[in-house]
Amino acid sequence: MKKAQTIYQNGDHFWQVIARDPARPNYLIDTNEYLISYQGQSLLTDPGGVEIFPAVFSAIAQVSNPEQIKALFASHQDPDIISSLSMWLELNPALPCYVPWLWAGFIPHFGGNQDTFRPIPDEGMNIDLNGLTLTAVPAHFLHSPGNCHLYDARARILFSGDVGAALLPDDYASVFVEDFDRVIKAAAGFHRRWMGSNSAKLDWCERAAKMEIDMLCPQHGAIFRGEDVQRFINWFAELKVGVLALAK
Ligand code: FE
Repeated sequence: MKKAQTIYQNGDHFWQVIARDPARPNYLIDTNEYLISYQGQSLLTDPGGVEIFPAVFSAIAQVSNPEQIKALFASHQDPDIISSLSMWLELNPALPCYVPWLWAGFIPHFGGNQDTFRPIPDEGMNIDLNGLTLTAVPAHFLHSPGNCHLYDARARILFSGDVGAALLPDDYASVFVEDFDRVIKAAAGFHRRWMGSNSAKLDWCERAAKMEIDMLCPQHGAIFRGEDVQRFINWFAELKVGVLALAK
């Protein structure tokens, strides 16, 4: 079962993670979805695949009213990111979905119409959530050629898509990185193989190092907090990516 867990709260401003699901079928890669809420309205990042829609929906329904979801954000085009799109649109056909412009003609194969998509330009853009400014930050080629992360400057949280992802064993229960070395071991193969460009990676590391980030929240694996955020950025900057090897 997936469960929602609050990772940040400041008044009416929340971040909740719908975390890894130890009960999922083992042929599916596990995913984290993040619900960002501000004064009664929410945005859902990388809402997930068709297979896990019921689990994500019921986890959200236990902590808030799913009708408060006013926007979807897809970091890139993969099925584990956004193949549930048509199901979310059944809940609310007017739901906008922010996507990197490069994928604006591809993601509609998962659902939606010409009113659904809000293409994000390559340089990124601000997204308003009921008065809270979120920023779509470029992360191209990490791993997808059109790829964005989402930064909440007020909460100092960066949703980092596949950057920081780790394929953790099912007995790793915490949603947070508790043992940096253990998580990095589970992240190394994934980053070497899935991240395609060393120069794009260095650009991202430079950009991320300048941002104030208390939590770096990946779409797979565990959340980096505090000093582990910069430790991760430093580790990633040194890692040689684009290597043909098993993602383990
Ligand atoms: Fe992906």
